[in-house]
Amino acid sequence: MKVYIRTFGCQMNERDSEFIAGLFMEKGYELIDSPEEADIVLFNTCSVREHAEERAISNMGHLMKQYKNKIYGMVGCAAQALKGKLFERLPKLGLVCGTGEIAKLPELVEKIVDSSGGLNLRYLEEARKSKILACENIDGDIPELRSRYRENNKRAYVSIMRGCDNFCSYCIVPYVRGRERSRKIEYILNEIKGLGKRGIKDITLLGQNVNSYRPDFVNLLGEINKIQGVEKINFLTSHPKDANIELFKAIQDSDKIIKHLHLPLQSGSDRILKLMNRGYTREKYLNLIGEARNIIQGLHLTTDIIVGFPTETEEDFNDTLNLMKDTKFGMAYIFKYSPRTGTEAAKLADDVPADVKGKRHKILLDLQREIHKRKIYEKTRCHCVN
Ligand code: SF4
Repeated sequence: MKVYIRTFGCQMNERDSEFIAGLFMEKGYELIDSPEEADIVLFNTCSVREHAEERAISNMGHLMKQYKNKIYGMVGCAAQALKGKLFERLPKLGLVCGTGEIAKLPELVEKIVDSSGGLNLRYLEEARKSKILACENIDGDIPELRSRYRENNKRAYVSIMRGCDNFCSYCIVPYVRGRERSRKIEYILNEIKGLGKRGIKDITLLGQNVNSYRPDFVNLLGEINKIQGVEKINFLTSHPKDANIELFKAIQDSDKIIKHLHLPLQSGSDRILKLMNRGYTREKYLNLIGEARNIIQGLHLTTDIIVGFPTETEEDFNDTLNLMKDTKFGMAYIFKYSPRTGTEAAKLADDVPADVKGKRHKILLDLQREIHKRKIYEKTRCHCVN
């Protein structure tokens, strides 16, 4: 049988899709690039932004109208967040599988195939209940993070942890991916050594908040740095409240770790940062990136920003705008706020009008484009940029 997998969202979803592909291939399924010829169509969804979630649902609905005799499945964050609602919106959907259950996907599909293409609700319910089993350590590792199939023979994503404990008020991740769980260091090192032996030299460590890896992220970086065969180490994503001088020194002192930090700012206004539950102030953020730039030569600093968070005033927005003008990020990913059901922020009125969000979004995008065009973002130790 042929399986088609499409990924929506972040690198963590990409790694999950790679893992799912490996599982199906081990069972003898053929992985293909086009949904037209597939027997099984799986969308690995993202629920961080409403837009990505809606795009996945609408694309799948479109496919279902075109091609009737296939098994369709939604997996990942959005699947976990929406659960049964997806069956209402997509009546031809065969299965919904959350992030903690992906290790059981081939088993789920086999059960569905056994029941002649119809959905075996009893089995699906059993799989949902066993979610904890799929996430917890059976022999010390987190099963869904084990390395198997790799799409690329030069670069690899390595998950070092799952979930998040930060509960930023706008974010659905802690609810759909669960609380933070770090993999044991020996499993991570063994996986990377194995990749090194296969000639994969470029490693990106993945986690919602890698620098809160337990027991010690800087130590983990140091150990990976020693592995022969590994030439490039990158990591995503760091939270400003957990980044520190030790991390910056580790980056500076290693000739393998890329001189890149992605430190999501989200807002330049202290009032909005507090409402977002980000755990730092504007001043702390500025001090932090000042230290990072002083310690790491040629640092490429990137960020994420949300405009139009509930109650954001012109003054709040100008705080963000001015911080961006002063800081001159190498890249900024700018998003318009949209409420995610189940989060704290969703309890607040989404009171910044769409046209105001659009205007603020454009102002920041134009500024970032100008910074990039004129290459005035900072890549040196010096804090003064002209
Ligand atoms: S740090 Fe905040 S934004 Fe990032 S995944 Fe965790 S809760 Fe979401």
